[in-house]
Amino acid sequence: MLAPETLSRFAEIVGEANVLTDPQDMAPFLREWRDLYQGETPAVLRPGTREEVAAILAHADANGLKIIPQGGNTGLVGGQIPNDSAREIVLSLGRLNRVREVDAEGFSMTVEAGCTLQAIHDAAEEADRLFPLTLGSQGSCQIGGNISTNAGGTAVLAYGNTRDLVLGLEVVMADGRVLDGLRSLRKDNTGYDLKQLFIGAEGTLGIVTAAVIKLFPRPRAQDVAFIGLESPHEALKLFAAARARAGGMLTGFELMPRVGLEFTLRHLQGARDPLAEAYPWYVLMELSSGTETEDGENPTRALMETILGEAFEAGLVADAALAESNAQAAAFWHLRHGMSEVQREEGGSIKHDVSVPVASVPRFLDEAIAAVEKMVPGCRPVPFGHMGDGNIHFNVSQPVGADKAAYLARWDEMNEIVHAIVGRFAGSVSAEHGIGRLKRDLLAEVKSPLELELMKRVKAAFDPNCTLNPGRVL
Ligand code: FAD
Repeated sequence: MLAPETLSRFAEIVGEANVLTDPQDMAPFLREWRDLYQGETPAVLRPGTREEVAAILAHADANGLKIIPQGGNTGLVGGQIPNDSAREIVLSLGRLNRVREVDAEGFSMTVEAGCTLQAIHDAAEEADRLFPLTLGSQGSCQIGGNISTNAGGTAVLAYGNTRDLVLGLEVVMADGRVLDGLRSLRKDNTGYDLKQLFIGAEGTLGIVTAAVIKLFPRPRAQDVAFIGLESPHEALKLFAAARARAGGMLTGFELMPRVGLEFTLRHLQGARDPLAEAYPWYVLMELSSGTETEDGENPTRALMETILGEAFEAGLVADAALAESNAQAAAFWHLRHGMSEVQREEGGSIKHDVSVPVASVPRFLDEAIAAVEKMVPGCRPVPFGHMGDGNIHFNVSQPVGADKAAYLARWDEMNEIVHAIVGRFAGSVSAEHGIGRLKRDLLAEVKSPLELELMKRVKAAFDPNCTLNPGRVL
């Protein structure tokens, strides 16, 4: 419970309608979609301007209140959900949702934190530009959340992580002061690049209220292939050959196992197998080009045919379907993007968001799959994801008919086994989803004492009273 004077102070700042205290109104902010985290809060605050965010933080910081920033609530490590103490106040950024400016000539765009990623895609497209960050959650996740998690997704191979896509940030600090860095400069070597500290900080260092993001030319030609192959070893050879031939035109390279496709075909509406026969593994490969050839030929189609032709000859590829229309390309991507959500239809799933050097992916998968199958005979590994970035979502579904709770009770045990293998390949135990609450204790195991000390000192410098997202990350 918050003191009545605190509630009325917040109502003064954001208006009474934007201080939610009714359990029904607050419910959507208190659980994430997989139900792994549920919390309680005395209030959800919905500011509509950066000044309102600043006033809330100034009051909270001066009065020992704790604030949990929340964007689209699609985060996968529990950072955006309050704990069950009913003392952490949720600050939802959803009303800060204006596209402030699109600079088509300068290839940048100024957006408020609460814009959904989809709305940003749409605004960029209207200006004949591309904002390349692409996630399965883009209809709900917000750019402030993307920035705070340094989101990755399926276009990292060509365009980089969110960190690479941000030119400037407006941030409200824990004490309510505003750091106005909404610059669109491509070059600026004036001391420490402070904005980079907020990117991937998961709301622990400040609240992002707006950003200047990079835009790119929209691809004029694009081709997508759905490819069946024997194993990730062939997939790696195909990746190397495709990258060497296509360079920057290779804009997607996603790996999927048969069992993942089967789940998708079973549970995702409208899903159809693009290939006539079943193969143990699949790759979704996308090529994009900013230009068409002078004779109007599609340059990506010719290149795709060359790459696949050579791969067939080398025995790397068993079969492939080429999308013949935008709708078919979208249908191929739908299979890939649907692969996360369908896993819950198959019972318990123990998850790992890991990365290893790209060339180590096949050997990592061989070892990790063997290890989890030894630990839980009959379990169904569904490792899928961004092979071109070395980032695999190593999810493991329970054996058919097993007890879900008993299976999930072995979460930590399985994590330990998989993360030990990741460690042997000099990989990361959190490739793109962050640390949040889920991996906070793990962080202490994978970072050196010096790294941890420096991180704690940064936190203390930016948020000395630990007002923002306490217990997340550190
Ligand atoms: P939230 O979940 O609301 O918050 C995430 C974190 O950021 C929390 O710690 C929160 O406190 C903080 N935060 C939110 N907004 C702000 C702000 N304005 N200022 C400061 N802190 C803030 N992630 C990937 O990287 N790649 C993927 O391919 C991918 N695919 C996904 C597919 C599905 C189906 C789902 C459900 C999730 C996926 N995710 C993926 C995870 C998730 O969508 C991303 O982490 C996303 O960037 C989170 O954005 P959000 O707005 O939902 O943030």
